Amino acid sequence: MNKKQLLDDDFKYIWRPFTQMKSLENPNNKPIIIKRGRGIYIEDVDGNKYIDAVSSWWVNTLGHSNKRLNKAIYKQAKKIEHVIFAGFTHEPVIKFSKKLVELLNNKLTKVFYSDNGSTAVEVALKMAYQYQVLKGRPQKHKFIALKNSYHGDTIGAVSVGGIDMYHKLYKPLIFDIRQAQSPYCYRCPMNCEKETCNCECLSSVEEILKEEADNIAGIIIEPLVQAAGGMIMYPPKYIEKLRVLCDKYNILMIDDEVAMGFYRTGKLFAYEHSGVVPDIICAAKGITAGYMPLSITVTTDEIYNAFYDDDVDGYKTFYHGHSYTAYPLALAVAYENLKIFKEMNIEEYLKPKIAKFSKELEKFRNHKNVGDIRQTGMICAIELVKDKKTKEPFKYEDGIGKKIYAEGLKLGAILRPMWNCMYFITPYIITEEEIEKLMNIAYEALNKVLPNEET
Ligand SMILES: *Cc1c(COP(=O)(O)O)cnc(C)c1O
Repeated sequence: MNKKQLLDDDFKYIWRPFTQMKSLENPNNKPIIIKRGRGIYIEDVDGNKYIDAVSSWWVNTLGHSNKRLNKAIYKQAKKIEHVIFAGFTHEPVIKFSKKLVELLNNKLTKVFYSDNGSTAVEVALKMAYQYQVLKGRPQKHKFIALKNSYHGDTIGAVSVGGIDMYHKLYKPLIFDIRQAQSPYCYRCPMNCEKETCNCECLSSVEEILKEEADNIAGIIIEPLVQAAGGMIMYPPKYIEKLRVLCDKYNILMIDDEVAMGFYRTGKLFAYEHSGVVPDIICAAKGITAGYMPLSITVTTDEIYNAFYDDDVDGYKTFYHGHSYTAYPLALAVAYENLKIFKEMNIEEYLKPKIAKFSKELEKFRNHKNVGDIRQTGMICAIELVKDKKTKEPFKYEDGIGKKIYAEGLKLGAILRPMWNCMYFITPYIITEEEIEKLMNIAYEALNKVLPNEET
């Protein structure tokens, strides 16, 4: 089929996510048809190559079309592709679960499987609530969530979401939550300075707990980075202080590592930058290196044991599952991903790259529209503002992100913006040379759209 036919059919038959479909009538907004990927590059049907600076929606870890990962799937497919996960089990899931719990130092010990980030969150919320019920505290039915948070697009996950554009419309459908402030250091809700901050914004969590801890099952957070909310970053001590509050008021800490997990922050999970352990973690995006949909909700013996009993009336059973629970093809590739990370000594491997990114980010510091530069491990973000002094943001209609995106494509990089943020979440295998190349492209794209008069 030729390109025009493909695009016509794409438009005719497909309803795309997060997209005003009418905008695709504009020829400039047509999706790019990708033919293949190699390493950090993806290539379209016309032979144009782009640096994948978004890791294919934050999922890719080891680059595209990795030979060993390809082989892991192929090998598993030749054995068996799917196994009903009731009454049956299989080697990939057992091997992966064991390896993961070892990597978690046996602090989080039980792995529950589903198949995307949103469902991993649904599992966590149901698990947390049922735990409270089983502990004799059925009135604990509400959750605390943060402003600017994103936990997925299913209704439970939307209930704990805090981004108006995505979530407000669905208010009549969602369950009751309490919203606390966002730890948005650049635009601190408490007007604190980064240097002297003591996580004062946590007082909004404590206020809620003082009012009604008896009704609260748990709090859900995105650790260190509120990603979809605009790559909002905050320090690990927030997690430590939150842990103290959770213990004081007897609520669970749910840590949504869907975007941050599997070394995106430089450690296996972001919470490891703090000295504390959550009660439940959710993970998905990097788990299969971007190959297959898979997610996990991992919890402690304490929570697991509350459900563990003789099967009298089904009351203590956790009623949740999906057709593709613990999908063998996905687990085969997830296991191989972990194996490769170990062989690479991934934490050490990432350090020079993280340092290179932070050096390159400095290039942007003097640009008149660069309000804030943020980095957590392999995640970098630049918040653009209309006015550096007042921090006045650009408006949606200004379309700054979209324009930079278009320039980026012309220059050979995918710079998909997040609100007014340029961000970089590349595959881990990017070389230091390629980081420099990418950041030069980003700088050029930025200057095309917002020329820096100061220079
Ligand atoms: C992407 C994301 C989700 C949702 O994951 P899906 O696989 O898209 O359903 C949940 N939580 C966080 C923090 C995410 O970034």
